[in-house]
Amino acid sequence: PISARFQSSAAATKIVAPPMVYISGEEMTKYCMEQIMDKWISPRVDTTKWEYYDLSCVSRDTTEDQCLRDAVAAGARVGAIFKEPTVTPTEVQKAKLGLKKAWGSPNGAMRRGWNGITISRDTIHIEGIDLGFKRPVLFERQAVGGEYGAGYKMVGKGKLTTMFYPEDGSEPVTVDERTLTNENSAAVTYDNPLDNVPDLAHHFFSRCLEADVVPYVVTKKTVFKWQEGFWVAMKEVFDAHYKQKYIDAGLLPKGELQHLISDAATMQIIKWTDGGFGMAAHNYDGDMLTDEVSQVHRSPGFISSSLVGKAADGSMIKEFEASHGTVADLWDAHLRGEETSLNPLGLVEALIGAMQHAASLEGGPEAEKIIAFTNNLRKVMHQLMVEGKGTRDLCGPAGLTTEQFIEAVAERI
Ligand code: NAD
Repeated sequence: PISARFQSSAAATKIVAPPMVYISGEEMTKYCMEQIMDKWISPRVDTTKWEYYDLSCVSRDTTEDQCLRDAVAAGARVGAIFKEPTVTPTEVQKAKLGLKKAWGSPNGAMRRGWNGITISRDTIHIEGIDLGFKRPVLFERQAVGGEYGAGYKMVGKGKLTTMFYPEDGSEPVTVDERTLTNENSAAVTYDNPLDNVPDLAHHFFSRCLEADVVPYVVTKKTVFKWQEGFWVAMKEVFDAHYKQKYIDAGLLPKGELQHLISDAATMQIIKWTDGGFGMAAHNYDGDMLTDEVSQVHRSPGFISSSLVGKAADGSMIKEFEASHGTVADLWDAHLRGEETSLNPLGLVEALIGAMQHAASLEGGPEAEKIIAFTNNLRKVMHQLMVEGKGTRDLCGPAGLTTEQFIEAVAERI
């Protein structure tokens, strides 16, 4: 039959994918990605240049986290990374899986190892379907610093002093002195590194300009005075390099870059459902606000997430992942033999992003074929969703199961 002949000739001319790092995780998202690789990618793409790293809890445990160090080193060398969601084991999972310890989140090691600047999270849009926001919402979350890197001790009554000792040996500086009067307090220290803010600013303002959206810088600097530096660094880059371009594009309604207080930003995200805006924020605010964006925009399956870092030679390291976790509840349902309906769009958008970034780093005719193949993949997923053949988060009870959706896409590509 014609279809079989077509398949064999297609298989003979597989597109050779450029080098990329593929990090696998576990649970429902791993199960889903295995099928996507088997049914969509492997029949058409030669992935022998990809490097695989298994960051499941058991693999991290047996290698004493060498697999994480190897994955980070490979990512820094190759520059294009796809990551499945991973489990950061709780004490319960530690016991259940028989782990030596409850290994910490791998994300910090990646953000440090890849000189992380920002985590970009954008709404995914499907022509013909109204999700939450009508036009794109772009987000830049500073990838390092803040509460995530905090040190702390539980302390009682007494005097608390925070000292800074300059590297150059000059006079120490007292950062803060206070008297604690409670029997029980959490004393916390953290810093907000500002050296990478100009890079974050360039990334954010060039993206907003290209996407035709209005940029906002979000902080709580009115009360948290130490956040002023983030705003100042962002505004300096904006005024020097982007202001005129935004005026020309009609994207600066008030004539100046706008600052939003973070609590006001939480309200605007719910109200501004027309979309067409971008926000840049510190690490923790960015974490909270992007989760809010994902809820307004229907499901975490409709948000992309990409960690942008900078290699020593100035080239961009980009890691792409879904914004959600391993979807453990659906995995449990699957193990019980029940039907599940995982929306793979965020996962696949991440795979597409990583494959396209790898292609842009390599260039050449094969790279162009990868771009065309992945663009078509996206189109097919969107078409099915528009036709009501999407997953149940979008189409309700009549929607397809995890496996049916993967099969439907496979047939059409
Ligand atoms: P989750 O994002 O996996 O799921 C939250 C809820 O949203 C669940 O009800 C789930 O069914 C639903 N959901 C998420 N994505 C969906 C999709 N694509 N389609 C349909 N429904 C979807 O978060 P969780 O349940 O809090 O965490 C599960 C595990 O994931 C935990 O072990 C956690 O450590 C891990 N996690 C990993 C990452 C990461 O690797 N980046 C991020 C968050 C959580």
